[in-house]
Amino acid sequence: MSLPLDELYREIILDHYKQPRNRGELDPHSARVEGNNPLCGDEIQLDVRLNDGQLEDLAFQGRGCSISQASASMMTEAVKAKPLDDVHQLIDIFKDMMRGQPVDTEELGDLEALEGVQKFPVRIKCALLAWTTLEEALKEANGSTT
Ligand code: ZN
Repeated sequence: MSLPLDELYREIILDHYKQPRNRGELDPHSARVEGNNPLCGDEIQLDVRLNDGQLEDLAFQGRGCSISQASASMMTEAVKAKPLDDVHQLIDIFKDMMRGQPVDTEELGDLEALEGVQKFPVRIKCALLAWTTLEEALKEANGSTT
C-alpha cells in the first residue's frame, strides 16, 4: 500500500458513502428512531432488532453529508450481531475518539478512518449522529421489551 493514510481513510469513507451497508428498514424491529443534525442537514432513520442480549440486526436510511452517512454505514457493520455490552462499549470508544481522547484503535477497525474528523469540530456532530441515534434506539428497544 503506497497510499498515504489520509487518502486511504478518504477512500474508506467514500466507499461507505457510495455503497452504504445495511441500508433499508427492518421488519419486525424492536425500535425505530430518527436522528438529525440540523447544523448540517443530516438525517438518519435507524431500525434495530434486539434478541437475547444481542443487537441481532439493524438497518438505516438517511441523507446528508458523506461523513454522516459513511459513519452510519460503518457503525452498522461494527455493531451488527454483537452482544449489547460490546455495542455500548464501542459507542463509548467512538465518542472518546471524537473528543480527541486516546482510544484502543484495535477495537475500531474501519471506524479508525473517521478519526481525522475530530480535527474539524463542525463535522464531529455529523460523525456522531449515527451513534447517538443508536443509543436512543437501544434505550427505546429495551424499554419496549419490559
Ligand atoms: Zn454532516
